[in-house]
Amino acid sequence: MHSLARIDGFEFAASGLRQAGQLPVSTLARLHDRLASHGGELRYEVAGVQDAQGRPGLRIMVHGVLQVTCQRCMQETRYPVGIDETVFLAESQTALDRQPVDADGPEWILASRSMDVAELIEDELLLDIPAVLVHAVCEGGSAEADSVRTSPFEKLKGLLSKDGKPGN
Ligand SMILES: [Zn+2]
Repeated sequence: MHSLARIDGFEFAASGLRQAGQLPVSTLARLHDRLASHGGELRYEVAGVQDAQGRPGLRIMVHGVLQVTCQRCMQETRYPVGIDETVFLAESQTALDRQPVDADGPEWILASRSMDVAELIEDELLLDIPAVLVHAVCEGGSAEADSVRTSPFEKLKGLLSKDGKPGN
């Protein structure tokens, strides 16, 4: 089983360390049921950071292309990944629970002196890739679709908000 080196999250943040490399899609098991193909690799970089208040964080960058299936036309489609997220490190569950729940605020994770980099990357990918992917406009097998992010759920929200009630 392929795995990346584990890192000490707090040491990483304090010393501004970084780790970069290639991650085979085949090793990202939790993504597999969202993908049409498990081939290829993603490029990643994890960098230790501290914000202006000295709070430790990890900047997680992931780039590459995944193969997904449009759930409307069932065509295999390229899904470009471009993740650049900073997560802040909580030293305990108590510290994590103290963080306000704010969708626009920074993301906090429970950190440790031995963190699995591949798992961090997988977590960010799971947040990035919608569970259901459809083209904004299906074009009979067009292979490129970065509009593939639109989900039926988002369309439904749009319908509901027109008059504030579910449709007739
Ligand atoms: Zn489609």
